[in-house]
Amino acid sequence: MKWAALVDLVAEGRVCILSGAGLSTESGIPGYRGADGERRVTPMTVSELLASPHARQRYWARSFVGYPRFAAAEPNDGHRAVADLQRLGLTTGIITQNVDGLHQRGGADEIIELHGSLDAVVCVDCGESYARTTVDEWLRQANPRFDREAMTGQIRPDGDVLLTDEQVAGFATARCVVCRSDRLKPDVVMFGESVAKPLVQKCFDTVAESSCLLVLGSSLMVMSGFRFARFAARERIPVAVITQGVTRADAETTVKLESPLGATLTQLVAAVTPGAAPR
Ligand SMILES: [Zn+2]
Repeated sequence: MKWAALVDLVAEGRVCILSGAGLSTESGIPGYRGADGERRVTPMTVSELLASPHARQRYWARSFVGYPRFAAAEPNDGHRAVADLQRLGLTTGIITQNVDGLHQRGGADEIIELHGSLDAVVCVDCGESYARTTVDEWLRQANPRFDREAMTGQIRPDGDVLLTDEQVAGFATARCVVCRSDRLKPDVVMFGESVAKPLVQKCFDTVAESSCLLVLGSSLMVMSGFRFARFAARERIPVAVITQGVTRADAETTVKLESPLGATLTQLVAAVTPGAAPR
C-alpha cells in the first residue's frame, strides 16, 4: 500500500529530494541521532569555535584525525539511486543537509548543499576561502609528531573524531595566509549558525515547483530541514519519507517507509524506470 503510493508519487516526476545523515550511514558515516530521534553527539557550536584558541585547537585536532576517514567514505546505493532518479528526469532538485559530497560522487549534480561542504575552509576575519586539502597539508606540516593514523575513534557526520584532552594538547592550528588570523572554520553551517537566506529561498522555490517532497534519511529534527516539510504540507504537496526512526514531520507526512535507504531506493529506481516490469 505504502510502497505503491510511493512509487506512484515518484513515477509522476517533479520530485524534490531532501536528504540527511541517514543517507550516508551506509557509507560508514553515522548520524547525529539514534532511531529514537535523540541526539547522540553534541556538535561544537560556532560561538564555541570562535570564542577561544583552545576550542579551535580541539576542533581542528579532531577534524584533522577525522578528515582522511571522512574523505575515504564512498557513495552507497542510496546516493547512486538518487543520481539515477535525476538522470531519469524525475527530480526538480536535490537538497542535502549532508556536508560529505557523496551525492556528487555518486553521480548526481546541481546539488543544493544546505549546510555547506567540508571541502572548503573559510577565514572568519577576512573571508578568504581555502580548499580543505590545502588546510589539511598546513596542519600536517605544523604537527609532524601528531600520528593521526594511530588515533582511533568513531567518525561523526561533521567529519571529526572525539579525542581526549591529552590527545588534543600540543596540536598546532593553522592560520590564514592573508590576514594571519587563526579563526578558520569549515565552510559549513555549524550548530548555532543560520543558512543564508537566498539559499533557503532557493529551496522553498524548488519545493514550490515540485509535486512531491521526498525526504531521505532525515529525522527533520532541525528547523533548517523541517521547514521545507512544513511548507510542502501547507501547500498540499505530498511529503514522502524514507528513513529509519521517528521524524519531527510525521504529522506532515503522506507516505513513510522505515527501511534501509540503499536497498529501498534501488528498488524504487527499478520500479519507476520506463520499461520496468509492472509493479
Ligand atoms: Zn584571513
